[in-house]
Amino acid sequence: MMLKHRHTLLAVVSTIATLLSSANATAHESDDHAEITASTGDRKAIEQYGLPLTLMNTIYEGQITAAEMKSLGTLGVGVSNHLNGELTAVDGIVYSIAADGTATVAPDDLQAPYMSMINFEPTRTVTITDISSFKALEQAVLDNISSANTLHVFKAKGEFSFTRLASAHGVEDENVDFFEYLGSRQMYNLEHTVGTIVGIYTPAYLGTISIPGLHFHFQNEDNTIGGHLEDIRFDKMQFDVQEVDRINVALPNVQKFRDIDMKMIQPPSGAGAGGSKKEE
Ligand SMILES: [Zn+2]
Repeated sequence: MMLKHRHTLLAVVSTIATLLSSANATAHESDDHAEITASTGDRKAIEQYGLPLTLMNTIYEGQITAAEMKSLGTLGVGVSNHLNGELTAVDGIVYSIAADGTATVAPDDLQAPYMSMINFEPTRTVTITDISSFKALEQAVLDNISSANTLHVFKAKGEFSFTRLASAHGVEDENVDFFEYLGSRQMYNLEHTVGTIVGIYTPAYLGTISIPGLHFHFQNEDNTIGGHLEDIRFDKMQFDVQEVDRINVALPNVQKFRDIDMKMIQPPSGAGAGGSKKEE
């Protein structure tokens, strides 16, 4: 399975072309990317299945399983098949979050149309203070990363004075417009809750490949409640940070994706990316 290989984006594109042209994908595996690997050091890759663009094209079903997610990393964010629950991977365990916010350990055979995983190995810690909104957090993240043009993965544990979370409820209509769906999700607030934030910062120019801006999920301390982060307040928090300059993308290997007329759609941007409705 191509997810297990370390490719650059270009290599992924070439692999896709090979897959489309049929069965000699393994024959195409070459080592002409070895130099690229060496020159980019030992930074880990984000291993991703599906794209914001495939979700926006109503591909709500995929075939990556929770077992595969765990083989690809220890930290992750995504959503399960038919958008029937947000997915959060923390410390190597994948949790599925029901529409009411209840988190449970995902069964190994749970499948997803969109999931980003990484073996989280933070290289530094930044202290972020006086956050009163999602936008403020996004600005603080930008102020604290070494380049706004690379991917960064974050994890922070502590007491958050306020979080507003969104859950994903299953779609009734597999062709429902993604933005219409986003507007129909339930939101719930947690106050003074100890828990963990995990997530990814993606530069806007990669917005059709990975959710642009901050895609953060929150999970409480005993992993019973969680969701997609929409708003946040805290006084002071240490974030472990890993800069990532590589993302391996697997296309959804489902028939609907193979058949559909894929459209270029502008992803939601800014605060609550992936959670807020598209701004016209
Ligand atoms: Zn999410």
